[in-house]
Amino acid sequence: LRNITTEKEIQKLKEVDKIKTNFIANISHELRTPLAAIKAYTETMLNMPMTLEEIQEFLTIIQTQSERLENLLNDLLDFSQIESNTMKIVKENTDICKIVENVVKSAKQMASDYNVDIMVDCKNVTVNCDPGRMEQVLLNLVTNAIKFSDKSKEERYAKIEAIDEDDQIRLMVSDNGIGIPGDKLDKIFDKFYRVDNDLTYSIPGTGLGLAIVREIVQLHKGTIQVESEEGKGSIFTVIIPK
Ligand code: ADP
Repeated sequence: LRNITTEKEIQKLKEVDKIKTNFIANISHELRTPLAAIKAYTETMLNMPMTLEEIQEFLTIIQTQSERLENLLNDLLDFSQIESNTMKIVKENTDICKIVENVVKSAKQMASDYNVDIMVDCKNVTVNCDPGRMEQVLLNLVTNAIKFSDKSKEERYAKIEAIDEDDQIRLMVSDNGIGIPGDKLDKIFDKFYRVDNDLTYSIPGTGLGLAIVREIVQLHKGTIQVESEEGKGSIFTVIIPK
């Protein structure tokens, strides 16, 4: 019996080790890509005569890539707060439709790059929550809906719905993207976990997003659930009690 236990433990350790190795490879890639772009564009700007328009265009790229780096570092900081149990939320009466509006603004460029329509359904929804953290939850779900959209479909959408249900609010982010295999559904909220297949291979990410989302939702005493079908799409539902 003891031998079997040891073997299982070794197996588990090997798995953890593999996840960590993958994570380091992912994160290095996530750091290198924007950094390489920033370096290349600044070098070009320094060495080439350019029109004002070109300068504008290059600076916009540099700005976008710096934001990508900033987001990555924020995720890493959030992650270390989760690990050390020091993430705090500060609640205030929050207009969720305003939050949704901000999320749409932030995701607009990415949505147009991926040719995804963002749809919104929100009317008079308020709740006591941490507005910055709630925006982070929704932005994360929406950028996933965009990132994992299905290139083989002509019409692609990411839909945000917010519903007031008296003693709780329901936030839903749905898409008609590539979907998630049934046997992976319970894993996607784990730290570092990313579905690994031909469809997801080239999509950037660290596997931290949903782990952070779940933590924030739980700090609000809420729940998060996912329904998904491969090839059809996904629905993420967040419930926050009032
Ligand atoms: P990341 O986006 O950095 O890979 P997340 O923690 O946000 O990490 O998501 C974990 C995994 O869950 C993703 O790598 C992807 O495989 C899957 N996933 C998340 N959201 C969606 C979605 N809307 N459609 C399809 N797959 C998704």
